[in-house]
Amino acid sequence: MILELSKVIKGLQNQLDFESSLELDKSFLESIECVNASAVQFSGNIRKLDKRYELTLSYSGELVFECHRCLKDVNVNLQNTVERLLTTSLETDEEEDLILIQDGRLDLVPVLEEDITLNLPLQILCNEDCAGLCPHCGKDLNNGMCECDEKKIDPRLEALKNLFT
Ligand SMILES: [Zn+2]
Ligand SMILES: [Zn+2]
Repeated sequence: MILELSKVIKGLQNQLDFESSLELDKSFLESIECVNASAVQFSGNIRKLDKRYELTLSYSGELVFECHRCLKDVNVNLQNTVERLLTTSLETDEEEDLILIQDGRLDLVPVLEEDITLNLPLQILCNEDCAGLCPHCGKDLNNGMCECDEKKIDPRLEALKNLFT
């Protein structure tokens, strides 16, 4: 989603409003291990300040992840407002946090992707107390204990046992 800012840069317009929706890129979704995603709705504006520009971007959507422990689908709601300063020329190091407007255009996608990544929960779980899957038999322990838990088979004993059966 590229915004054309030349009118704002030239001072023909003080503000540019936008509103749209977009599908997140497959490779981005893979990079955050998201298995499914709704389109992201977004809106906002860019306002001219003294020397810089201010971007306000609100977005919402829904991502589906696998629970870290039991692999069940977990829906994560996206909803945030980002405020960033933009500039048409980067001068000093202290301005690292500014987004550079190149050729009078701003691509909103990297801004969105960065903000989504920063706001994801560190560990995505279906439930804080999710018991996860048994590492031996793969049973979902949220539905009750499996049998391996009682016996706690030692892999060395398991090998021996196999010799006699
Ligand atoms: Zn889970
Ligand atoms: Zn088990």
